[in-house]
Order: sequence, then structure tokens, then C-alpha cells
Amino acid sequence: MHTSPAGPPAPRGRTALWRAIRIGFSLSPLLAVHLALFTIPVIAPTLLGVALALVVSRVAGLGITAGFHRGLTHRSFRTGRVVQFLLAAAGCTALQKGPLWWAAHHRLHHAHSDRPGDPHSPVLGGFWHGHMGWLFTRDLMHPDPRLVRDLARFPELVWLDRLWMLPGLLLAAGCYLADGWSGVVWGFCLGVVAVFQVTFAVNSVGHLLGRRRFDTPEGSRNNLVLGYLAMGDGWHNNHHRAPGSARHGLAWYEFDMTYRVIRLLAWLRLAWAVREPPAAVLAAAHRDAVPPADSGGAPTPPAPRRSA
Ligand SMILES: [Zn+2]
Ligand SMILES: [Zn+2]
Repeated sequence: MHTSPAGPPAPRGRTALWRAIRIGFSLSPLLAVHLALFTIPVIAPTLLGVALALVVSRVAGLGITAGFHRGLTHRSFRTGRVVQFLLAAAGCTALQKGPLWWAAHHRLHHAHSDRPGDPHSPVLGGFWHGHMGWLFTRDLMHPDPRLVRDLARFPELVWLDRLWMLPGLLLAAGCYLADGWSGVVWGFCLGVVAVFQVTFAVNSVGHLLGRRRFDTPEGSRNNLVLGYLAMGDGWHNNHHRAPGSARHGLAWYEFDMTYRVIRLLAWLRLAWAVREPPAAVLAAAHRDAVPPADSGGAPTPPAPRRSA
């Protein structure tokens, strides 16, 4: 995480210009991968390019869900430092900035969900603010380092946070070497954009559309489509009910690929201390296991209040 440089304050105009340059620079990879999709009509897809998109979206997606979200932000399971670094590096390939930056903002989201202080509440700021607009606000450049003091103990994570663009650039270069510009556009850019849109849909759609199994204090929802697309992170109401749990999918139909991957890591003895939801939460989910055809915005039956 970067801190403000010490020294005498710069003149007001210069400070504003410097800040605009920093925001533009930090968002440039994100904007670039989106703009690159305009070249899709002139770059013929190859089988390898499409396969690379699947690989990139799984690597970057699991880097976000297992690495940045459940591993670093919520500490819902533990790993050695090498695995922790590799998961964080995979998360960086999603071009959603660095692990400390991501964790700081997500911890703010949980601390102030859908209340003042939540950086991306669609309930307070509307859909587009919750989805992408919040990234363009100026106060995001220097999140409070106290929010991620536990993560800043690891110098390799601090290093990754500063050089967060590097893993993505290396992956893009690998895609180019494997399949030329089709690998870059169809493989890397399409894969990263898909992960970005799904991740940020959890912030926007995941607080507006879907079922509310638990009567949590914010607007979180279990959205059936997002649940599968976001590899388990779309069971967002379950997550807000038990944020420390490594498992987000609770009912039989709530497939949670990220939890399966964490369990696989634990089976391989590469992860441990995997935190499960409280028994009362699991029991409520089992009682509430309605068929999926009834979900997706349907009125919510009376839900149990927080009890654990
Ligand atoms: Zn949320
Ligand atoms: Zn969370």
C-alpha cells in the first residue's frame, strides 16, 4: 500500500494534476483490456485463444475469490507464504489492483455495508456507482493502511501491491507467445474482462437482485447466476451472514467452486485452518433448500435472524 509522500505540500493545481495522472495510470490496464475487445471483429478467434480465455478466467478468478477475498481479506483459511504469494499473484492478473488495496476496500465494505463508508454500495449510490463508478472517485488512492496491518507484515505482499500490474503483464506476454494477438485479445483480455465484470457484479447485482435467505443488516443477495459465474462468491447473502467462513455455498444447489479448490488445497496439505460456517447458519440453509427455479429475485420467505 502506498502512503502519501512526506515533505512540504505541493501547490494545489499540481497536486490535482498529479492525482489525476495517478488515477488514470492505475486504471489504465483495466480500461485497456476493455477497449481491446473492440478489436475482436478484426482478430479471428483461434481454438487456442478461446482455450486461453478459459484458463485466464479461472486463474484470475480464483486468484480473486480464493486469494484476495477468502484468503487475504477474510483469512478464512491459512497457507504457507509461497502458496499465499502465488494466490495473490494470480489475483493481480485480474487487474483489480493489488492485494492490500483490494483487501482494504473489501474490509471497508463489510464494516459499513450499504451504509456511509461503504466504498461501493449500489443501495446508496445506484447500480453504476456500485458496479464500476466507485473506482473513479478520488478518495480511493490511499486507503487507510491500518485496515491491512496484518497483511503488511508480509514484504512479498507489499511488493506485489506496489507492482500489481506485473503478473498481468507477464500473463498477457505468455498469451502472446502462445497464440499471438488472438492469445492477447481472445485469451487474456476477454478472460480478464469476464472476471472483472463478474467480480464487480457481486458488488452491484449481489446487493440488488436475488434471494435473501438471511435477514442481514445490508442488502446482500444470493443470486443464482452470479453464484455459478463467480465461482461461489455470488452466494453473497450467505457470505455476509458468515463472512469468516471459507464456504459460501450452503444449500445443495449452491455450487461453490472456490470452496472446493480450498478443500483440495487442504487435502494436499497446502492449506489448513479452513473455517466453516456456524452450525446454525448451515442448519438454516438446509431448512431453506428450495428448488433453484424459485430463486432469482422472488419474494423472500421469513428468514431467521442472526443467531451466531
Ligand atoms: Zn457485499
Ligand atoms: Zn467478503
